[in-house]
Amino acid sequence: MKNKKIVVTGGLGFIGSNLIELLLKKNFHVINIDKITYSSNFYNTKDFKHNKNYTFIKCDINSKKIKNIFLKYKPSCIFNLAAETHVDRSIDNPNLFITSNINGVHNILECFKKYYEINKKTKLIHISTDEVYGDVLKGRSDEKYSYKPSSPYAASKASSDHLVYSYVKTYGIPAIITNCSNNYGPKQHPEKLIPKLIYNILNNKPLPIYGNGLNSREWIYVLDHCEALLEVYKKGKVGEFYNIGSNKNLNNIQICKSLLKVSKNLKNMNFNQKIKFVKDRPGHDLRYALNSNKIKKKLKWKPKTNFADGIRKTFKWYLSNKDYYMSLSKSDIVKRLGIK
Ligand code: NAD
Repeated sequence: MKNKKIVVTGGLGFIGSNLIELLLKKNFHVINIDKITYSSNFYNTKDFKHNKNYTFIKCDINSKKIKNIFLKYKPSCIFNLAAETHVDRSIDNPNLFITSNINGVHNILECFKKYYEINKKTKLIHISTDEVYGDVLKGRSDEKYSYKPSSPYAASKASSDHLVYSYVKTYGIPAIITNCSNNYGPKQHPEKLIPKLIYNILNNKPLPIYGNGLNSREWIYVLDHCEALLEVYKKGKVGEFYNIGSNKNLNNIQICKSLLKVSKNLKNMNFNQKIKFVKDRPGHDLRYALNSNKIKKKLKWKPKTNFADGIRKTFKWYLSNKDYYMSLSKSDIVKRLGIK
């Protein structure tokens, strides 16, 4: 039997490339569609770029060619991860976020709607974030919690979630929306907190923390997220939203301390960086926290990696992949954005 085909958009990025690795291990044929933005990186796909079950296509999700790709490969599933993803960049230039995260998703929906007419055995899984719920100061947000996004990034993701849902209701397309908490792990762009802190530890620089460092996020190891997505593909119900989280909240100071602890436990290493508090991000939500009981109960998924193990694996990956940092523009790593 031929391998089932799956399209992953945004597969040169952090989560997309980890998802493709998992799908290839499970013997799917994966078609990776990516526009190649600053946050994409061919380093992320180097280990499987010659795999006969892997195809890369440079394409913007806003392009009409998306429909032709669906019609040519006839995928059994499309995982949509392509997006502009950095909150600070969305503060400096919301336009890009509207274009990729809203208009791009609208184009995917239109192309998928036409493709679904000729292949009823397909589905679209739209990957979104816990940031759509806005600040969750107490308790944890379940799938019925109202959307109140605080940043242009979160607002663009919220809009796309609404668009996807509206296409299910109005046109009957088979789509599912997932909302995941903060991911960490190998291959993440160092504009994001954990790989940035590791970069600074490895380069003997102070560890920049926004505001008072008490902003709390729920942290999930990227492979746990990818495995959850696979379960959603296999068993998820069309038209449903699924939260995906670890239930493990940590504030930014705790993240710094855990990374420093990992670095100190590494043999022959002598890291002793200090935290440096820097100007806060405008509209910075204090806390995100998901209630993920639905996916645990209905799809029998649960995360496997505890934070202590995940952060150790993550640190070790960046330590043994210093070329990863070299493959990126230095100004993209060190420049402070989003303080307008
Ligand atoms: P990333 O920035 O690492 O990768 C995004 C990828 O999308 C890049 O390779 C980029 O080139 C590509 N892309 C951007 N615009 C595109 C366009 N118009 N057409 C085609 N490709 C385009 O992001 P990530 O952290 O891997 O996030 C992937 C998805 O998961 C996003 O939708 C994000 O909102 C969501 N998400 C991320 C997290 C997290 O903690 N990283 C948490 C929850 C949800």
